[in-house]
Amino acid sequence: MAIDSPSLASLITELQSSGLRVEAPMESRHGGAGPSDSGMLWIEGVAVTVPTDAEFARTSPYVLRPEDDGFGIYLDGVRLAAAAGTPRPRYYDLTTADGIPYWKIALLHLDSLASTVLQTCAYWGNSDQCQFCGIGLSLDAHRTIAKKRPDQLAEVALAAKELDGAVDATLTTGSTAGADKGALYVAQCGAAVKQAAGLPVEVQFEPPHDLDVIDQVHGFGVDSVGIHVESFDPVVLARIAPAKARTGIDGYFAAWERAVALFGEGQVSTYVILGMGEDPALTVDGCRRAIDMGVYPFVVPLRPIAGSLLGHLRPPSAAYAEGIYRQVVPYLTARGLGSKGVAAGCARCQACSAMGAMEGLSLGATRTKA
Ligand code: SF4
Repeated sequence: MAIDSPSLASLITELQSSGLRVEAPMESRHGGAGPSDSGMLWIEGVAVTVPTDAEFARTSPYVLRPEDDGFGIYLDGVRLAAAAGTPRPRYYDLTTADGIPYWKIALLHLDSLASTVLQTCAYWGNSDQCQFCGIGLSLDAHRTIAKKRPDQLAEVALAAKELDGAVDATLTTGSTAGADKGALYVAQCGAAVKQAAGLPVEVQFEPPHDLDVIDQVHGFGVDSVGIHVESFDPVVLARIAPAKARTGIDGYFAAWERAVALFGEGQVSTYVILGMGEDPALTVDGCRRAIDMGVYPFVVPLRPIAGSLLGHLRPPSAAYAEGIYRQVVPYLTARGLGSKGVAAGCARCQACSAMGAMEGLSLGATRTKA
């Protein structure tokens, strides 16, 4: 019998806190700026990323076991849910004319094509480095290239759509020292992807010094934007992302206000990371204030990346994460916002959070694999 929706939302929350012990090989992602050191699964048809590589995941009570048809997730010998892995994307076997493997240009996260278009960041390796970030690690490990050109991304996006059914593209960037902080380059890349592959595109960037840059990003024709405050607790933000703290939380609200006016309600999102010592009341208040403005706060548990400055931590407890989701998701739904209304990107995909599964409880549906 299929798992019911409340149990599925709780299971996803538990797995993203405790990790998953894997008894069979599966497609996973190491390092980088997205769902790193994680396995990617469809659990009962719902897209989920879970920690699989970290030490805590290797000793998790939750186990992924191969079955005749796919996988099962077990706890203490009891089968909780069915799961399906993701086959190695076919486009990973292709290379560009200049000999770069497509997978070094963009990865497939379940059904979303994802790339960090500039794999360098002005803050990496100095006192401004965001403590949760792993952007330089995959570059050091030669798993990617430092700068992806728009034409390379367009070529890979078309192949990912045609060969592997990618449904959107999520493009992020390290920040640059320029006034736009990299926003215009990632938008230019997004335009090339959209034009070549016809996929909806989200681009992610820091608030630029001059908010008119957001108008220029909109002019490139991308669908959604992610402008990530990471934490609504100013003390935590100052500790874990000093450069972002200089923008200040009100600086993020100013950038979101401009972006919502251009892209529309629900097409602007922000990551809100749980488990870095933040005040939960400030976190919920900040999420609600963002929602009031039409911003989707994509609340995720910390996914500690090995080698990052927070690599020694564990994700927050499932009870803590679920407690925050329960105060944010109904507010989001009541405001008429939801992941289904997001054209592209992390808040569309939802695999790194249980928010989407929980949204389904109030809306009566969750996104499932076609
Ligand atoms: S701004 Fe922070 S999170 Fe983004 S790439 Fe730079 S160090 Fe990483």
